[in-house]
Amino acid sequence: MTRAPAIRARCKECAGNAAEVKRCQFPDCSLYRWRGWVEDKAAPGVRLTRRPAIRAYCRWCTKDQTVEIRLCPAIDCALYPYRGSGSPGPDSVRAASPRRVEPNRGFVFGGA
Ligand code: SF4
Repeated sequence: MTRAPAIRARCKECAGNAAEVKRCQFPDCSLYRWRGWVEDKAAPGVRLTRRPAIRAYCRWCTKDQTVEIRLCPAIDCALYPYRGSGSPGPDSVRAASPRRVEPNRGFVFGGA
């Protein structure tokens, strides 16, 4: 999977289905511009590419705790392989964490 389908997969997880992704009402989301097969013009003049869009989304997800992006335990998240600055790969998978992650709600500390 490359970044584009990873973003679409994450948006589908977030919105529930492809039709809802198309009708997304959150243009402030860093992934908004990249959610469809055809890029829309929602952010003219903004030079955001997929990599920083994913990075920005992960920052939102972790409430700007950048170290948590690197330590992210949510290996099922579609953006997981692309959350870092390097090439995607399974070698960055971390051992089980005491934290749990609820998609679209960010980290919940102290969970089981
Ligand atoms: S769960 Fe992890 S990989 Fe997914 S958006 Fe949040 S920080 Fe990024």
